Amino acid sequence: MGMFNDLLENTKAVVQKFGEKANDVYDITKLNAVKTRINCDIEKSYKALGNKYYILSKSSQLDTADFSKEISALDELHAQKETIIKQIDDIKKQKRCPVCGKAQSGDKPFCADCGSKL
Ligand SMILES: [Zn+2]
Repeated sequence: MGMFNDLLENTKAVVQKFGEKANDVYDITKLNAVKTRINCDIEKSYKALGNKYYILSKSSQLDTADFSKEISALDELHAQKETIIKQIDDIKKQKRCPVCGKAQSGDKPFCADCGSKL
């Protein structure tokens, strides 16, 4: 009976572990979808900023202060994107190289992409 219970406990642990992994995959998929939407918003914002710059420069009324609202919105979108990337890194248990920004897994002392010290 003891061996059967051990087997049962092991099976439970494996099923639980699999469930956690499945949740991680689900979370990463959701976070990647949010990141894609933010990237789309960033592209739209750059396009709107470019259109406004072009129109104002044509009318020779160009003043960089006119762009503060658009630049703040872009800063906010970039901050949101960084948060999502950090959440994905946390789930995948990876860190970012401070030099090239590529994701690094495990406890390696140097970046596998650029060789910088991590
Ligand atoms: Zn690197």
